[in-house]
Amino acid sequence: MLSYRNELDKMPSYDGVEKNYRIKVNANESTMNLPPLVEERVLNRLAMLAFNRYPNEEYHSLVEQIAKNFSVDASQILLGGGSSEIIEKVFHAFGGAGKRVVFPQPSFSMYKIYAKAAESEGIAFNLDAKFDLDVEKFIAAVHDTNANLAVVCNPNNPTGNALTLEQVEKIAASIDCAFLLDEAYVEFYGRSAVNLVAKYPNLLVARTFSKAYGLAGARVGYMIAQAEVTRMVNKTFMPYHMNKLSLATADIVYQMRDEFVPRLQMIIAERQRIIERLQKISGVEVFPSNTNFVLIRLSRAEELKNYLESLDIGIRYFSPSAFGLKNCLRISIGTRAENDAVFDAINSLLTN
Ligand SMILES: *Cc1c(COP(=O)(O)O)cnc(C)c1O
Repeated sequence: MLSYRNELDKMPSYDGVEKNYRIKVNANESTMNLPPLVEERVLNRLAMLAFNRYPNEEYHSLVEQIAKNFSVDASQILLGGGSSEIIEKVFHAFGGAGKRVVFPQPSFSMYKIYAKAAESEGIAFNLDAKFDLDVEKFIAAVHDTNANLAVVCNPNNPTGNALTLEQVEKIAASIDCAFLLDEAYVEFYGRSAVNLVAKYPNLLVARTFSKAYGLAGARVGYMIAQAEVTRMVNKTFMPYHMNKLSLATADIVYQMRDEFVPRLQMIIAERQRIIERLQKISGVEVFPSNTNFVLIRLSRAEELKNYLESLDIGIRYFSPSAFGLKNCLRISIGTRAENDAVFDAINSLLTN
């Protein structure tokens, strides 16, 4: 008899089997691969790697670059295999039996799972009907539950809305425990809280190369916090947990990040254009977005999802039991042509 760890059988499995849709706007990835100039530099760099050596040099090179960009010390940066690894390790570092972690819902569905994996108690704080976070009540909930960790995704996935930096600072200043801010989509919002780290020893900011920088396949993310915090969180990682192919790739991408600015601008403009078009379809509620996706609600959500799938278009559908997300669909912003194709398909089903 195989005897697994307690509770492992009750852990949900991440449904990672993904179809390769003709138009894939279900996972908030970049629908464009690297800009050609960046790709060329990446391939040249990969050709020069010392595969026989552990990735110290590549790790520190990327850390130095990020530290320089944010004017922080290199000791304040940790890299991870996507921000997923960062988030999981932060839950681990501030978790354990008898520890509590508070996060809003609906938000990133993995928080609940990381809490469980760390053997902490996950406590969901409900967003209001417009998916806004009542900051005062959230702070009170963190106090009242005697939480060890509070997690906020800003801008929020899957709702698309965002807290102002004043609201983020209010939370950081008002709670004593660790405060993890997940900024996976912040490039599409433009208001990062990284500069607040110097002032708040409890603030940890997680960022990723997966969304704005189109590197979901390379699995690179990072975290910025005060040096004492990174020193502790770093103990939860394996040695050499980052591979040098991904590190070298992210290093070039970060050096060349100006090449991505036109894409970010395009996505932000497309987001506005698609929101305005969707708003004209009666029966469709469109939520405001500060991200690279748009959340909509309509009574025919499941039918629409199935119809789009039949056209080989993949969008994100939420189970009716997901808190607050009944009849909601999330659509990632793609190229103009992809967005038009998705819109035309939606429009043709709903206006017939
Ligand atoms: C996509 C996403 C992440 C992390 O993705 P990685 O690919 O692991 O960096 C983290 N948080 C949220 C809310 C996301 O949507």
